[in-house]
Amino acid sequence: MKILFATTEAVPFCKTGGLGDVCGSLPIELAKIGHQPAIVLPAFRQALNSGRPIEPTGVRFEIPIGRKTVAGTLLRSTLPGDKVPVYLVHQPQYYDRAELYRENGNDYKDNCERFVFFCRAALEAVKLLNLGSELVHCHDWTSGLIPAYLKTELCGIPPYDSLASLLTVHNIAYQGNFWHWDMELTGLDWKYFNWRQMEFYGNLSFLKTGLAFADTISTVSPRYAQEIQQPPLSCGLDGILQYRRDDLFGIINGVDYNQWNPEIDPHLGGSKYSVKNFADGKRACKAALQKEIGLPQVADVPLVAMIGRLADQKGFDLVAQLIQQWAPTSIVQWIILGTGEPIYHQLFSDIAQKYPDKVAVRLGFSNDLAHRIEAGADIFLMPSRYEPCGLNQLYSLKYGTVPVVHATGGLADTITNLTEETLAAGTANGFSFSTYNTTALTDALDRACKAFANRPIWDQLIRTGMGQDWSWNHSAREYDRLYKRTLARATHAAC
Ligand code: ADP
Repeated sequence: MKILFATTEAVPFCKTGGLGDVCGSLPIELAKIGHQPAIVLPAFRQALNSGRPIEPTGVRFEIPIGRKTVAGTLLRSTLPGDKVPVYLVHQPQYYDRAELYRENGNDYKDNCERFVFFCRAALEAVKLLNLGSELVHCHDWTSGLIPAYLKTELCGIPPYDSLASLLTVHNIAYQGNFWHWDMELTGLDWKYFNWRQMEFYGNLSFLKTGLAFADTISTVSPRYAQEIQQPPLSCGLDGILQYRRDDLFGIINGVDYNQWNPEIDPHLGGSKYSVKNFADGKRACKAALQKEIGLPQVADVPLVAMIGRLADQKGFDLVAQLIQQWAPTSIVQWIILGTGEPIYHQLFSDIAQKYPDKVAVRLGFSNDLAHRIEAGADIFLMPSRYEPCGLNQLYSLKYGTVPVVHATGGLADTITNLTEETLAAGTANGFSFSTYNTTALTDALDRACKAFANRPIWDQLIRTGMGQDWSWNHSAREYDRLYKRTLARATHAAC
């Protein structure tokens, strides 16, 4: 099937989070199982500077944005491996900026027209480049208007009459809501600005529009697909998601084991290890990590790690409280790697200063250190308030670093809490807690630390986690089934 990914992130071109990982790896997996995927992406400055070879296509187009007309061109590149074409929508006034969506904590003021332009340009690319696309796979709010154009002004017009649409929600908290007069920028009739389609509490909503018009909808874990049908995790969109529940699917993200695998990871130097023989490798990685981050090199003390955006979503508030409760008396060591909200930068800097022999904090983005932490830590914390899928718990399993998670979204779908039954069944791969508060997190981490002291149980947990397969292989086949369903539904759906 010819599938066009309409996305604003795809590694190695541009990334701010998990969306970039997914759109950089899933198309490659789809090509392996016989599909013909392509990607259309804004030519952001990050993408133009990514080092990938990029050439012009010679195709130029004009797009109506409200009362003006804006010109753009299409560039061409490929994902690494050269099997997946990538088309970049070049419009320097919109996309040649320091960041993708926002700077210094503020969204770009013209985001509505920037992404109206992108949605329309993606559809122009289908026609002007003669892509023959059968399905457009949209991702998050920034491509949310594409299904609406297909079902309204392009309805019945070749080549769009045979183009189905799927919208994947990576995080429902990001909705692309703009004041109602921005409806004029979309060029769509005001009759669609109603509570069932494009209007959301008086505003224009890109995400709601996509949810209303796409042939099918998916999100990045089965549990999150359930959670977003109810408040509070629906972020106000439960009505439309319940209405469309028969068209809503959850598919867990996969891991790229070429990047995240302790057997071949170049970041581990000479201390690579596998499920068959992990004890020496992990011990060496732990000692090296302790040295690198300035913590005492002791082997029998649990080293607890956390990596992520320093945002409320990720549960750093609970972790800060927990460290402050434990640090004065317990022997546990901590490493935190993250960047984000200034309030957390301050909080964790203060904690690290107060307990320098127990807490190490690195405020920044470092892929290299992230790999060494995954290998060197014993326990990986993910107490997220909500987590659509989460990738770090899956990396941790592969590196024999036992996850402790809040049982929400993709974390609930991938981590099996250790109990007598799950241990006996050989399914336990970590620890989880159900209520989002410090008491429940403390209890879960306490259980993990006790298990750490019991070597046979700990080794069993590590072996189970390292032996699991969370590669794209499985998820790509689920997308394959969903694409076929989407085509079948699209042929029945009227415009
Ligand atoms: P989200 O998309 O909500 O940020 P995910 O867990 O799905 O969360 O993906 C985040 C990705 O970004 C992971 O690959 C994670 O390792 C990486 N990451 C986040 N913060 C940092 C950081 N400070 N340094 C290095 N990698 C990071």
